Amino acid sequence: MKPLKDFSSTNVQYLFTDIDDTLTDHGQLKAHAYQALWDLRAKGIEIIPVTGRPAGWCEMIARFWPVHGVVGENGGFYFRYHDKKMDRHFVFDEKSREANRAKLELIRRDVLKEVSGCAIASDQFSRLMDLAVDFAEDVGPLAEKDIDKIVSIFARHGAQAKVSSIHVNGWFGTYDKLSMCKEYAKRELGLDLDAYNERFAFSGDSPNDEPMFAFFRNSFAVANIKNFISRLQHKPAFVSEKEGGEGFVEIASRLMSVRK
Ligand SMILES: [Mg+2]
Repeated sequence: MKPLKDFSSTNVQYLFTDIDDTLTDHGQLKAHAYQALWDLRAKGIEIIPVTGRPAGWCEMIARFWPVHGVVGENGGFYFRYHDKKMDRHFVFDEKSREANRAKLELIRRDVLKEVSGCAIASDQFSRLMDLAVDFAEDVGPLAEKDIDKIVSIFARHGAQAKVSSIHVNGWFGTYDKLSMCKEYAKRELGLDLDAYNERFAFSGDSPNDEPMFAFFRNSFAVANIKNFISRLQHKPAFVSEKEGGEGFVEIASRLMSVRK
């Protein structure tokens, strides 16, 4: 991982960014990080947040924040508000989503029965694609073995599960954040993400961002990544000095200062 001053690519036009603990500090979006989003847009760098957060949140983000679009629920969909119209693009059609929700309900019952101390995430009511089990946001934090147990229940039902800093998110299907970013680039920007990798950047903070660190040549992390560094096989190319939102401001400043 190199310091930000070593980043010098002038080609970045689009920044995919994680939200929790990358833009935010202790669960809040502070003024300086939000301002950086507006500054990037003014400089011609479009932002697409990529998050495990639910559809209900993404509806608001796509509409209110200075973003080009948003990828939500770990890649289950993207929303883009454009020309006074909300475009909602999902991996699956409505019928499949409904069938998957019925299967997730069975997982919900098993998790609550078998793992004491966890809870269904308080934002579950605004989710469309996945089930989020809280182990450290409004409850816990639970021990590693309990988190593993939650993951194993998803696996037993044939669902995949990803662990963030606060939730275990599980869903049916093989999609992930990166697959939806590729779809976003193709449908909304007319760009093949593999072929035009250097026009994009990604910023994140934790092990669940690792596939993105591995894929994007212009990959950034805020300083809190250092807490997880021993668990990462694919490290980000560049790292900020400060943590969370302040780190994101550093990354944004560097992207803007090298841009032609
Ligand atoms: Mg994060």
